[in-house]
Amino acid sequence: MRVWVLGCRGSTPAPGPATVRYGGNTSALALAMDDGPPTLLLDAGTGLVNLQEVLGGEAFRGALLLSHLHWDHTHGLPFSPATDHDDAAVDLRLPAQRVPAHEALARAMSPPHFPIGPDGLRGAWSFRGLEEGRVEAGGFEVLAREIPHKGGRTFGYRVVAPDGRSLAYLPDHQPTALGTGPHGFGPVHEAARALADGVDLLVHDAQYTVEEFPTSQHFGHSAIDYAVALAAVAEAGRLLAFHHAPTRPDDELDELAARFASTVTFAREGDHLSV
Ligand SMILES: [Zn+2]
Ligand SMILES: [Zn+2]
Repeated sequence: MRVWVLGCRGSTPAPGPATVRYGGNTSALALAMDDGPPTLLLDAGTGLVNLQEVLGGEAFRGALLLSHLHWDHTHGLPFSPATDHDDAAVDLRLPAQRVPAHEALARAMSPPHFPIGPDGLRGAWSFRGLEEGRVEAGGFEVLAREIPHKGGRTFGYRVVAPDGRSLAYLPDHQPTALGTGPHGFGPVHEAARALADGVDLLVHDAQYTVEEFPTSQHFGHSAIDYAVALAAVAEAGRLLAFHHAPTRPDDELDELAARFASTVTFAREGDHLSV
């Protein structure tokens, strides 16, 4: 499996000279099997614009799974030339809401909030709600599980390639919603375990440091130390810290990368990983 980090910033884009190395675009990953083009996208943050470079100008054809509907995971939808393309074919799925998937998306993406609705995207699009469980997406086997996060139904995904290589994706996760856990960062709960158990790569919310956590946890995110604990309990092969705080400059991410050097890789926009 190959993985491209198209955007790894959390909450809102953070462009500027202080974030050029880790990147300012919000959550989006592209996944490919072997040497083929990407066939599965995870989230559609502003980083989705970078997919055109991966595809060399070709249209994307495959599945797009949204973890949830917050702006920082959907705002790339109308701005990605590889998916907003006459030849694109996109099977978009999102955690099932009380209204049809298309209608849920259109609540934020339609006039007067935005000039076009989901129907205005070029190419062949389908919009479907997804329940917890196993599903095929873009040729990968996917397990969807609901995880706690603030403000809206949120899924984490476990993705397994046909050759057995695996990735877990929990970009926005507030485990303290389920209790304080052994260290105050929230419990390693059953859904998180099911998603991360034995994966080759765990991509996890790492928005806050332990110093920031007491005053910031109510925003709905994890401490880096929680991601480390989950990776250890689940025996994940590698941990990719993701969804960096928008206020975190590159120099601070360098310091954190040094602090957690033996256990964590801090995601950078433009990373291309073999899993
Ligand atoms: Zn987010
Ligand atoms: Zn969120």
